[in-house]
Amino acid sequence: MHKLLPTSTVGSLPKPSWLAKPETLWSPWKLQGEQLAEAKQDALRITLQEQIHAGIDIVSDGEQTRQHFVTTFIEHLDGVDFAKRKTVKIRNRYEASVPSVVGDVSRQKSVFVEDAKFLRQQTKQPIKWCLPGPMTMIDTLYDAHYKSREKLAWEFAGILNQEAKELEASGVDIIQFDEPAFNVFFDQVNDWGIAALERAVEGLKCETAVHICYGYGIKANTDWKKTLGSEWRQYEETFPTLQKSNIDIISLEYQNSKVPMELMELIRGKKVMVGAIDVATHAIETPEEVANTLRKALQFVDADKLYPCTNCGMAPLPRHIARGKLNALSDGTAILRNEISN
Ligand SMILES: [Zn+2]
Repeated sequence: MHKLLPTSTVGSLPKPSWLAKPETLWSPWKLQGEQLAEAKQDALRITLQEQIHAGIDIVSDGEQTRQHFVTTFIEHLDGVDFAKRKTVKIRNRYEASVPSVVGDVSRQKSVFVEDAKFLRQQTKQPIKWCLPGPMTMIDTLYDAHYKSREKLAWEFAGILNQEAKELEASGVDIIQFDEPAFNVFFDQVNDWGIAALERAVEGLKCETAVHICYGYGIKANTDWKKTLGSEWRQYEETFPTLQKSNIDIISLEYQNSKVPMELMELIRGKKVMVGAIDVATHAIETPEEVANTLRKALQFVDADKLYPCTNCGMAPLPRHIARGKLNALSDGTAILRNEISN
């Protein structure tokens, strides 16, 4: 990536209403069988063109082929029973009915590799592919088998590593692991969460990223944010360990958040995907607002390591809002690129 300040999104983008119910997490598909397979590819083509049209540099599949960023990956694994559901509290925040781990977990065949190959065929631009991180996976399950979060995370890390190696071979430039759970279970993150993530990227030659945020713009998350006080210092707990890890890029939430930006000093040397687009509001940022956030970030991240990005995925937003936000990200970044090169 030779362009200065390459833009990207965290991952998910809204799905067309003919594919799945809009503005809904875990939204069921509207088609089946071959029609669904074709519709997913059509949606992927559209979301890619929208990113390219907006001038986004590192493009993604917008997660058009998955129902949910964690569940869809897990659905393809052995050892998890989706009929045997339990209600658990996800990230200590909201209750959800989740499947149970009932035996040894394993991956019989690749999950997203065909989709990644399809995306690779459609564009020469750098592509990023998202996978759930091990800790966020175990937090979205009921474990009736291993009875140890650490043991299960380690198993998932091995499985993710198999998938990641195949994604790399299919031409993916950046593999990102989504770990919102890193903002909640600090002791476990430092004890084994980051180590498990390093196991997941073992042997990869492509770039690797971890995304840590305060969640999608859904009510459970916005309510939780209201309890966090005037300064959100969650990143402070895990940044020192992340700084020493071999993950290349760290993707963070900043726009409209109460995260003190100077915490980024703790990951000096890493590339940082700075969230300059708020996904919890339908208000579209002005390019100036985006540029202001990025300009501030430049105090703590060298320009060649700053990757303008969104706070989180945009799947729950209306499509026209998401498109507006892509344009704002691109236009705001252009303002700053201009300032830097002059
Ligand atoms: Zn996120």
